[in-house]
Parts: sequence; C-alpha cells; structure tokens
Amino acid sequence: MMEKSSTEQARRFDDIKANYYEICENIEKAAAESGRSANDITFLAATKTVEPEFINYAVSLGLKYIGENKVQEMLTKYDEYDLDNSQLHFIGHLQTNKVRQIVGKVSMIQSVDSLKLAQEISKQSLKNNVATDILLEVNVGREENKSGVLEENLEEILEKISVLEGLRIRGLMSVPPICDSKQEIFKFFDKMYKLFIDISSKKSDNIYMDYLSMGMSDDYMEAILSGANMIRVGSGLFGARIYR
Ligand SMILES: *Cc1c(COP(=O)(O)O)cnc(C)c1O
Repeated sequence: MMEKSSTEQARRFDDIKANYYEICENIEKAAAESGRSANDITFLAATKTVEPEFINYAVSLGLKYIGENKVQEMLTKYDEYDLDNSQLHFIGHLQTNKVRQIVGKVSMIQSVDSLKLAQEISKQSLKNNVATDILLEVNVGREENKSGVLEENLEEILEKISVLEGLRIRGLMSVPPICDSKQEIFKFFDKMYKLFIDISSKKSDNIYMDYLSMGMSDDYMEAILSGANMIRVGSGLFGARIYR
C-alpha cells in the first residue's frame, strides 16, 4: 500500500468530521419530523473497506456503533477497533460455517436470513457462553440475488428462531432495492415498518421488536421518516469506498 501523505490523511479526518456532524443534524431533523428525538435513532457506521484509524476517529467524535460486512475483513481489523467506546455489529451476508469466527466478537448480527444460520448462532453462542442479539433480514424487494427472508415466511421463521437459546431476536433489518425515486423507496420502507409494527403488536415470547434497521447514505432520512430507528451509513460518512 502506498504511504498516504499526512495532508491527505488530515483532509480525510476533516471530511469525516464534517460528514459526521451533518449526518447527526439530519438525523435530528428527520427524527423531529417523525415525532421522535435523535436519541431514539441509532446511527451505525457501515465500515467496509475503511481503515481502523478512520473508524476510530469517527468513534472519537461520538459514533457508537460500527458494522462490518465480511468476516475476514472484520477479523483482520478486529484488534484495532476501539470497542471500549463502540459496539461492533455484523451486517453482511453470513455463511453458516463462519459463524463461530464472529460469535463473542460482535454484539449483534443484523443479517440473519435463515433458520439454519440462527441455529448455528445459537449453538456457537451457547458454546461461548454469550447471548447474541440478532435482527432478521427481510428481502423486502423480493430480489432474486439478495439474501433475506420473504415477508410471507417471516412469522414462521421468527417463531422457530424464538425458541432457540443463546440468541435474542431484537428486530428487523432490510436493504431495499435501488430505486429511481424517493416515492419508490418510501414504498419499501413503509412496508418494512408495517411488518415491524405487525410483529411487535403480537407480543410473542422472545421476539423483541426493538430495532428497525434500514436506510443508508442516500436514503437514511426517508428511512427515519418511515419509522426506522437504526440507520447504516457508509460512504456518506467515510467518503466513496475504495476496494483494494
Ligand atoms: C455498505 C452497506 C451500507 C452502507 O451503504 P452506503 O450506501 O455506503 O451508506 C449499509 N448496509 C449494508 C448492509 C451495507 O453493506
């Protein structure tokens, strides 16, 4: 890797700082508009491809949640995260055979999309004597190439997962399709909110609908307006991703 000049690095820190405060302001605005306060919204930074020094800088500004997408990348960066001041979530597609590598290291797995995966999280959590919080990922746009549970299967899978030990269902997560218009994205966010409320209202044992995680850099304000209480922002905070 090329040495970065210190001015380039300083500029990146400045950008992250400006972005961080702007996002916080926007969260406050959108929260207020939906009758809530910024404290009701969890701001998680999606940190894929971002070096720990920049992640930790955002944490020093007040960021409290970070989310990684890839097991290998997360493990490589793991020792460098400032986890005294932040919580680590896993937000990417997770293969069952990699669960044991992250259980005990992450406080939440947001991308649970099958019973089999939940069973493995349960097994590994019990083995490690921890309880892992999970969100069920919903494929709200019914996209072939995307993971996530289809809405018609959600209740059945939630019920089966809810009896597993070593994990706690804490809510729903979604990555809606890329949309051309705000109107279109609202349709998906509103559908997610409805599912979230429907499940909450059933008050089933061991199913806690505390979090509705949706909204990314381009649409987190719309997500909040639709009822999201956790957003996942990457490039809007750290700048465009550079894949190496
Ligand atoms: C990358 C990623 C994000 C953030 O995307 P941006 O558009 O960069 O804000 C959010 N959620 C998941 C699951 C991601 O993989």
